[in-house]
Order: sequence, then C-alpha cells, then structure tokens
Amino acid sequence: MHYLPLWRKSAMPRPRPSIIIPTGSGQSTWYYQPYVDAVQKAGGIPRLTSPDLDEEALEALASRMDGLLLAGGGDVDPCLYGQAPHPALGRVDRARDDLELALARLALRRGLPILGICRGIQVLNVATGGTLYQDLPSERPGSLQHGCSQFPADHIAHEVTLEPGSLLARTMGREALPVNSRHHQGVDRLGEGWRAVAHAPDGLVEAMEAPGHPFALGVQWHPESLIGLPEHGLRLFAAFVRACGAP
Ligand code: MN
Repeated sequence: MHYLPLWRKSAMPRPRPSIIIPTGSGQSTWYYQPYVDAVQKAGGIPRLTSPDLDEEALEALASRMDGLLLAGGGDVDPCLYGQAPHPALGRVDRARDDLELALARLALRRGLPILGICRGIQVLNVATGGTLYQDLPSERPGSLQHGCSQFPADHIAHEVTLEPGSLLARTMGREALPVNSRHHQGVDRLGEGWRAVAHAPDGLVEAMEAPGHPFALGVQWHPESLIGLPEHGLRLFAAFVRACGAP
C-alpha cells in the first residue's frame, strides 16, 4: 500500500501554496488585509502569524511554509545591524524582528520564495548583514520625500528605474515604474548575496533580489496598494505565488 500525497492523483488539483505573513506584536490584523487580499487573488493561502513563538512552534510553522511574505511595518531595531538608535528612530518591535529574521534566513537557506515589502526589504537586508538608513531625511540629505503617508496608499510618489534583465524587470515587463512611497528608512549597505535592481531618482535602492535564489525579492514600495494600476496589477504577487508552487 502506498500512501502518496492526495494531490499527486491526477484528479486532485494541486493545493494552493501556504504563504506565511508575520505580523507585529499585539497588532490587529486589519493592517494586513491588503496583503491578504493580494496573496489570495494571486492564488495563495495567506497565513498571518504573530511573534513570540517557541522553538517548536517556529519549526512547525517553517515546515508548512511554501513562501514568506514580509509585510510593511515599523522600524527594525538598529542594534541588529550594529548601530545605536538615531533620535528619529520610530517604535521597534523586537519580537517581530526576531521572528522575521529567523524566517528570512531559513527561507534564504532553503531556497523558499520570499517577497519583502517596505519594512520587508529592510528585514531581508539586515538578515544578511546589510545596514539601513535609520531616517532618510536626516541621514541622507538631498533625498526625495519618501515618507508620503499623508496621501492615500496608492498615491504615486516617485518613479523607480529597474535593472534590465532582472527578475523584477521581467516580472513587471518594463524598466521604469511609478510607485508609492511610505518609508522614512531605507537600504544603505547591501547585505550578502543581493543585487540592487531598482533605484529612485535620488539613487536610493528601491528593490533588490538574490540572483542565486529561485525567488528572493525585496521592494521598498507597497505593491499591495497598487494592484488597481495597470502598470502594476497583480504581477508581483502572481510571480511570487507561482514561485511558491501555485498551479
Ligand atoms: Mn521611495
């Protein structure tokens, strides 16, 4: 008697991939709804998970993970990249940092697809030894206004130039992209294994990908708020969820 997984029988559709989305400590889930919607529309099953997991729960979660989505949120604790807190540093959530760093390193090691969004690209960079600007306006004079949270979520703040031939440029089908911008921090020194694949007009890194990995991509903008725009649609989420094993 063979106990093949049910989905191997041709009559059964392949299960939709399980996408882990870590959340902040004690944070309500409404904030994550745009991510949940985008992942579902792209064919994945979003699974929100809060921090403070013990070792065993983390292992169990990781073993059921087909892909990792690191969402937007507050600032990463600068001591995680060897810096003292800047006066303009926002609130940090160390439990969330720890969970996301652990899952990011695990997904990178196992070749599981990862999509990092806003705070997510910053977490990916820190997970691999990179550093961040803790506050762009004060630490990087001459920067564009990247923190545009007074506008609606889909407000186009600036353009980004994509690296020709990159996974990102191929996914989006273009080499320039209008994007929203809701960040006061940014990628400074790149972590190990990444290549910068999008830049803002002021030179700031707005996306990075890991060439040796099947799908590891971080973007500084918020694609989950731009799916109504023809230049964006579901392209990024569809490519990510497909890499996670969606039929
Ligand atoms: Mn920006």
